[in-house]
Amino acid sequence: MTAVPGTSATLPGTLLQVAVTLPLEETFTYRDPRSGARLPLGTEVIVPFGPRQVTGFVVGHPETVAGPVRDITDVVGDGPAIDESILELCRWAAGYYLAPLGEVLRSALPRGERAIASRRMRLTETGRRLLDLEADGRSHMAGLTLDAHDRALLARLRRAHTLSPTALARAAGASARMAHLLERGLVEIVDQVAGPSKSRRKAAPPASVPAVELPVLNSHQQAAFDTLAAALGKGYSGFLLHGITGSGKTEVYLRLIAEARAQGRGALVLVPEIALTPQLAARFRARFGDDVAVLHSALPPADRLAAWRRLRSGEVGIAVGARSAVFAPVHALAVVVVDEEHDGSFKQEDGVRYHGRDLAVMRALQAKAVVVLGSATPSLESYRNVLLGRFRRLLLPTRANPAAAARPLPPVEIIDLRRHRLGPDHLLAPGLAQAVADTLAAGEQTILFLNRRGFSTLMHCQACGEVLRCSDCDVSMTLHRGRAKLICHYCGRASAIPPRCPSCKQDELEGLGTGTERVESVVRELFPGARVARLDRDTTDGQRDQLEKLLSRVHRREIDILVGTQMVTKGHDFGGVTLVGVLQPDQGMHLPDFRAAERTFQLLEQVAGRAGRGDRPGRIVVQTYCPEHPAIQFLRNHDYEGFVRDELARRESASYPPFSRMIALRLDGRHEASVRAAATEAAARARAQGGTGVQVLGPAEAPISRLRGRSRYQIWLAGTDRSKLLAAARAAAQVTLPRDLRLAIDVDPQSVL
Ligand code: ADP
Ligand code: ZN
Repeated sequence: MTAVPGTSATLPGTLLQVAVTLPLEETFTYRDPRSGARLPLGTEVIVPFGPRQVTGFVVGHPETVAGPVRDITDVVGDGPAIDESILELCRWAAGYYLAPLGEVLRSALPRGERAIASRRMRLTETGRRLLDLEADGRSHMAGLTLDAHDRALLARLRRAHTLSPTALARAAGASARMAHLLERGLVEIVDQVAGPSKSRRKAAPPASVPAVELPVLNSHQQAAFDTLAAALGKGYSGFLLHGITGSGKTEVYLRLIAEARAQGRGALVLVPEIALTPQLAARFRARFGDDVAVLHSALPPADRLAAWRRLRSGEVGIAVGARSAVFAPVHALAVVVVDEEHDGSFKQEDGVRYHGRDLAVMRALQAKAVVVLGSATPSLESYRNVLLGRFRRLLLPTRANPAAAARPLPPVEIIDLRRHRLGPDHLLAPGLAQAVADTLAAGEQTILFLNRRGFSTLMHCQACGEVLRCSDCDVSMTLHRGRAKLICHYCGRASAIPPRCPSCKQDELEGLGTGTERVESVVRELFPGARVARLDRDTTDGQRDQLEKLLSRVHRREIDILVGTQMVTKGHDFGGVTLVGVLQPDQGMHLPDFRAAERTFQLLEQVAGRAGRGDRPGRIVVQTYCPEHPAIQFLRNHDYEGFVRDELARRESASYPPFSRMIALRLDGRHEASVRAAATEAAARARAQGGTGVQVLGPAEAPISRLRGRSRYQIWLAGTDRSKLLAAARAAAQVTLPRDLRLAIDVDPQSVL
């Protein structure tokens, strides 16, 4: 073999820097023993790692290496799995989130693409013929010979039809042997997930996209569009599209994307939970036909992979999906949209804990694209970025629908539950019950919003006070009457409802606390004859068709009262809804979370925005024990600006984000004492490293102190100097952990639980 040009002359083959998909920060050098062109960046490879075979990605081409290197076992696929631009984004994310590059790269791939189990090795035609010939005693064919070991391997592969690359590599013993079989064309890698491209539809030429009648943009939409379109193709620029609910933000995105497509460039659209908003996906489809890949989580892996490939090939120019779509391989990216940018679901809460919105901005920056963050209630982070001049704000202050545009948003009526007690059902204050009755009488629709599933949120014994808790988590079980089960909302454990108190054995168990299931049942009793439906994760249970059926029944006005959790707040455009009732926002308001007020305001403003979108004016009624809370006070007049000014001042005086940065260290393990000990040690290291520039809070037991049988502790680091924070987090993470303990670093944490 001869040295490949550009590599060390002392070693044949090419040197590769490989990020393995293991929780290790460093990358490793391997050798590609095959002569020929060097493997491009982003190529997925299988490499020996200790006694195992693991997947990894080529992330560099070092010139030299000190010490011996091992050979890669195999190359997966016939091109890079990850485009260079995505690799760039992943590098940034790895540094920013203190995550191993290999793991970031893995989370950047769709499931079908990343599972090496989905890659199978099989005999090629040549391999099969060679085996047959050898069996006939005609051992030599075209200069190919097999030794006994090769023969055994090929025979095994023939019996099994296919084997995973790792299984074959293990059977082959020496990794070079498998590579050698591949090189001689005796075995090949097939992709089982994608399979024969039965689902591959040809991209329709733009002309065949159904001609939809485009609404004439109102003056605010037009001004926003003009500014955005003028920025297209001129390098990076960032915008906050701040438009009230129903102001026609989506229409602005659609126009901007059409403009980019007309220039032959691509677009990426992130939405909070695509499965919850089939209407939004339908609007993109109606406008762009087959030029859109909708990447929702319910997509079978094969379809997702196929969509990924159509994007990468440029056959499809627009990707729409939830947070992981930020890695979609869109060609010639010119527009990045993050719809409902304030939504908490953009934050990934396990594995690589990235924020989809923040990565989207970074991706736009790297791609020199225009990024548009849209919301009726922008996050404080984004709002502050406007104040700092990092984003330009575009305002849409009126509703888009001409019938609704002339009216201001309906004012919010607050019912103080301390003065107006709940009715005998403990659910509706008389004022809200009357509003529902009036709406029914007018033949219009009502949404009742309560952000808790289940029937009762707690079961206790009236005789001895015992509360039924999850045996694996430190939380009370929720009663789900329809399913006749107690369910833990944190780990999902379900158990039978005990006939009597497990502690005192008396028949005195009682449910406390209301969930949507109970609301539905009470509302049916209060308003006999009304057509009532419930929308939460229990009624749709992840089934898209169930959800779509329910939503279209609401659209067709076959439902009078829709009861639901935050699923009812998500962007739905129901023309017939004129009343929105908010039952008990109090619990959310008082969470031990510095973002509790912001979250409550956003959620209530979103659900309020469902009222009066059609021809008839709407009404919003909120019943609460704490009307003086800022989230309620500013909601009264939909005063987002007022709320934000007030809240920013509060955050600034307490040095909370966005005026500081935070990193949470989350530790968990089976034994409380050892988790506490490790957390104490980690906090001490963070303090020693951080000095005065880093405030170290904790360690403290997490609010959910036990989850799935594991005790949980947290340490919070806060400060304004990012590099000092990172250094402190790194130092803390160096703590030696007993086998069973886990430590996760959460940069820009969103959850306090
Ligand atoms: P947002 O995304 O701000 O919530 P949408 O884009 O969903 O608002 O618009 C709300 C409704 O108004 C949709 O039914 C949409 O089709 C309609 N719409 C948007 N722009 C216009 C317009 N310029 N004229 C008439 N209707 C419009
Ligand atoms: Zn549990």
